[in-house]
Amino acid sequence: MAQPTEGRAPAYIDTTKASIARVYDYALGGKDNYEVDRETIERVRKVAPEVNQLAVDNRAFLIRAARFIATQTSITQYLDCGSGLPTAENTHQIVQRLQPEARVAYVDNDPTVIAHGRALLEDDDQTMFSPADIRDPAAVLGDPAIQEFLDLEQPIALFQIGTIHHFADADDPRRIMAEFVERLPVGSFVAVAHFFDPENADTELARRMEQVFVHSPMGSGRFRTRAELEGLFPGLDMIEPGVVPCFQWWPDGPQISQEDPVQRCIAGGVGVKREG
Ligand code: SAM
Repeated sequence: MAQPTEGRAPAYIDTTKASIARVYDYALGGKDNYEVDRETIERVRKVAPEVNQLAVDNRAFLIRAARFIATQTSITQYLDCGSGLPTAENTHQIVQRLQPEARVAYVDNDPTVIAHGRALLEDDDQTMFSPADIRDPAAVLGDPAIQEFLDLEQPIALFQIGTIHHFADADDPRRIMAEFVERLPVGSFVAVAHFFDPENADTELARRMEQVFVHSPMGSGRFRTRAELEGLFPGLDMIEPGVVPCFQWWPDGPQISQEDPVQRCIAGGVGVKREG
C-alpha cells in the first residue's frame, strides 16, 4: 500500500473534515488522504474487516463497464459523474485505449479533486473536468464547457459509479436519475454502482456498515435495496444480468477465490435508453 499523505496540507484542504474522494482513495490503497479520512475506513473495518473490497469491487466494475461500452457500442462520449481522485486506470485511459477518438468529461465537487485531480484528469484535449454538484443534472448538463465538449444530441455513456450512495434520501436519487435520463439522447447508456442491502443473511452486515459510515467523519454511505437500485435506471432497458453484486457483473474469469460477505454489499448494473 502507498504511503499516505503526511505533514502540512495545502490551504484549500480542510483536514478536519473527511472527504469522500480521499476516503475512497485510502480504501483503494492511494496516498492522497489524511488521518480524518483514514479514520472512516478504520471505523468500518471494526465491523467489516474486508471493507476495502467495497472500493476495489466498485472500481473494477467501472473498468469492466467502461470496456463493455467502448467495445460493444458505438458511443464515444462519456460523462463520468463523481470522478474521484486520479487512480491507476482512469476512465479516459480505459476507453481511449480501445477508442482513440473517445471524449471523457469528468464532474466532481470535492475541493481536493478540483484542485489537484483536475490537471491529471485533463491530460489531453479529449478529456475535460467540470466542477459541479452531480445532484443537479440541469447544472451538470447546462455547463457551457460540457455543452461545447460533448454533443448532447448524440448518445452518451453516463457513469454514476460509487456516487449515489452518498446522496441522502432527501435528495431523491431516483428523481435525480430521472432528470439525467430525460435529458440523454436515445441510445445512451447509464452505469451505476451503489452500496447494496441484499435483504438476506447479509442485511445485518450492510446495515452495520451503513451505521458506521453515516456516523463517521465522512457522514454518508447508504446501503439501498434492489428495488431502490433498480429505480436508479428509470425507463431504461437493463443489460443482462441486470443489477447484481459488482464482482458478479461480467467478471473477467471464474470466481475461484473465496468471496467475502462485503462483496455482496455493493451492486452495479448498466441500462440503455431505447426510446425517448
Ligand atoms: N467514480 C469514481 C470511482 O468509482 O472510482 C470515484 C468514486 S468516489 C467513491 C465518489 C466521488 O463522488 C467523490 O470523488 C466525490 O467527491 C464525488 N461526489 C459525491 N457527491 C458529489 C456531488 N454531490 N457532486 C459532485 N461530486 C460528488
